[in-house]
Amino acid sequence: MQSYNVGVIGATGMVGQRFITLLAGHPWFKLKVLAASERSAGKTYREAVGGKWAMKTPIPDFVGETVVMDAVKDMEKIAKAVDFVFCAVDMPSEEIIALEQGYARLECPVVSNNKEHRHFPDVPMLIPECNAEHVSVIETQRKRLGTKRGFVAVKPNCSIQSYVPALHPLREYGIETVLACNYQAISGAGKTFETWPEMVDNLIPFIKGEEQKSEIEPMKIWGEVENGVIVPAKKPLITTQCLRVPVSDGHTSAVFVKFARKPSKEAIIKAWAEYKGEPQELGLPSAPKQFLNYFEEDNRPQAKLDRDLENGMAVSIGRLREDTLFDYKFVCLSHNTLRGAAGGGVLAAELLAAKGYFE
Ligand code: NAP
Repeated sequence: MQSYNVGVIGATGMVGQRFITLLAGHPWFKLKVLAASERSAGKTYREAVGGKWAMKTPIPDFVGETVVMDAVKDMEKIAKAVDFVFCAVDMPSEEIIALEQGYARLECPVVSNNKEHRHFPDVPMLIPECNAEHVSVIETQRKRLGTKRGFVAVKPNCSIQSYVPALHPLREYGIETVLACNYQAISGAGKTFETWPEMVDNLIPFIKGEEQKSEIEPMKIWGEVENGVIVPAKKPLITTQCLRVPVSDGHTSAVFVKFARKPSKEAIIKAWAEYKGEPQELGLPSAPKQFLNYFEEDNRPQAKLDRDLENGMAVSIGRLREDTLFDYKFVCLSHNTLRGAAGGGVLAAELLAAKGYFE
């Protein structure tokens, strides 16, 4: 595989920091540009990020001394310097749309963790193991934007990245209804216990906009490509509650599911054990070898013990049992800033690279 020069837009943020740690030794992607707001522009990365560095490993040396660019004012310079960018910024929605389309129109593809482009029917929203075929809509998007190589591809919200993968191989049984209660880590809000001490010994039963995303986004993931755009699935019916819990990393979901044709418990566990997506078939560098991991122990998965499975890219599942109202219930977990954010973005970019979208 050839190597590609990449930039991170929003490099000083929580997701941006994760991108930096993941890209530091990446076999295909070479980190060349770091960009953030005008507050950080012109400073070295170490000065700009200051005390906000929240990763367990130190800032990589070559990154610390790199001068941060202005994501907006330096757009043309950045688009020329790299083959594509990752984007995770905290800006007003209309500015994010303008920023991402700006890079795409300058023929610099964007792999985004922001929500703004998720509902465009010609923008693929990728969980690469579940809907890799959706990349084909990029051709339609390029026609809309008037570009030859520029496009935007996005990742879905972190809240759905445990239960959508777990339900995905079970769709052959006709999933009718799903109830998911999501217990979400504080890093999902860009926070640590130091920056959000109110979360110690606490639970907050509200995350703005999250339940809507966690109910709607699975329908696009399970949608079909028709006439060059993604048409969302009509089933299953999904209802969710999203709660912020005092966990640093790792979103856990308690899931209840009803099928048109109820499978046996053994069939479900076998479907999880045997499931492979395109990242596994293609041997993408960040793909977990075993995507879905079922634990027989009653007290697993646990956020602290299991979120880092396969470098935080695997999904852990446990406690599958029959339910009185639904057919089954189970618990699942994924690392929200790895699989659910930067790691998922890097895997999506690897899929796009393997399919030739950055040529
Ligand atoms: P964060 O820690 O607050 O970081 C925000 C980043 O945006 C910083 O680098 C900041 O730069 C930059 N920024 C702010 N205003 C800007 C401007 N006007 N121009 C250019 N850059 C600007 O946020 P985060 O937690 O990393 O989240 C970033 C995005 O990722 C959000 O949209 C969030 O919803 C999304 N997210 C997605 C997922 C997912 O994909 N599943 C998960 C978590 C978060 P300065 O340091 O210079 O201010």
